[in-house]
Amino acid sequence: MLIVMEKDATEGQIDKVIKTIAGMGLTPVPVPGSQRTAIGIVGNAGPLDPEKFLSLDGVKEAIPVSKPYKLVSREVKPENTCLQFGDVIIGGDEIVVMAGPCAVESPEQCLAIARAVKKAGAQFFRGGAFKPRTSPYSFQGLGKEGLDILARVREETGLFIVTEAIDHENIAIVEEVADIVQIGARNMQNFSLLKRAGKSPKPIMLKRGMSATIEELLMAAEYITSQGNHRIILCERGVRTFADHSRNTLDLSAIPAVKAVSHLPIIVDPSHAAGRRDQVIPLSRGAIAVGAVGLLVEVHNDPTNALSDGPQSLYPEQFEQLMEEVRVLAKLPRG
Ligand code: PEP
Ligand code: MN
Repeated sequence: MLIVMEKDATEGQIDKVIKTIAGMGLTPVPVPGSQRTAIGIVGNAGPLDPEKFLSLDGVKEAIPVSKPYKLVSREVKPENTCLQFGDVIIGGDEIVVMAGPCAVESPEQCLAIARAVKKAGAQFFRGGAFKPRTSPYSFQGLGKEGLDILARVREETGLFIVTEAIDHENIAIVEEVADIVQIGARNMQNFSLLKRAGKSPKPIMLKRGMSATIEELLMAAEYITSQGNHRIILCERGVRTFADHSRNTLDLSAIPAVKAVSHLPIIVDPSHAAGRRDQVIPLSRGAIAVGAVGLLVEVHNDPTNALSDGPQSLYPEQFEQLMEEVRVLAKLPRG
């Protein structure tokens, strides 16, 4: 249920509502929004009686929420969630692009790629210091040393940093460097990590699991927001199907489907969807056309020798071309 307060509700009236909810053994969660003061109620096993809340002073509406996810739903917050990083806004009209290698390999590699993607117009640098790899024998990332390299990239280029936290053990040091903490596809249903991300001081980019439904993705986001962190970006990165012409199948229909029911911004990762660089630009065009508010793209200056995901990484020149197209597409009607 969502309790919407009158415009002129006093602090005391809001406090009374919060105390009433807590007194019933339920959890009140303030829902941020510029238009109104609203308090979500979570933790109830069955439907609640709206009259209990409507009788309190300052309460305008008590709206039952029909979806299993509550705080991330549009029923609770009709307007889009926007996240601001300096002058960059994720969730607004601009297309925000996060680009960089799959893995942080060295300062030279990162700085060369970061300068190239920045010059082409990317706003974020991506790169994993902790890598979730299918094989335990594959490169696992540079760990703390990788984070130090990312900090240097930010300092030298001014790019914002998005990097993955794969476990509880290291999320705290990832948070120190990341402007956005990525939770990867394989961890989308790591519920204890999601709860920890919900306590993070940093925004979270939550990638869709490779066999997760939209409802499961939104329930995973709900884990994060129910712990108090409302700054979430969703990312469609392809799901596993019978198709073998690409690594995964990019589910572009997920974008309008998510936007219809959730206020959270959603971006597309064409690189992990495709698994091969020749599909990355065409899929990016499609992503923007269906209303994605950003792209997460792997770029490498020497993909042949990349320590992970070389075959899907764009060459810097291809990334430049992609960004030129992004600028044109961003002006057209979308979504
Ligand atoms: C990544 O972005 O580097 C990554 C591992 O992606 P995913 O979790 O989508 O496979
Ligand atoms: Mn990768």
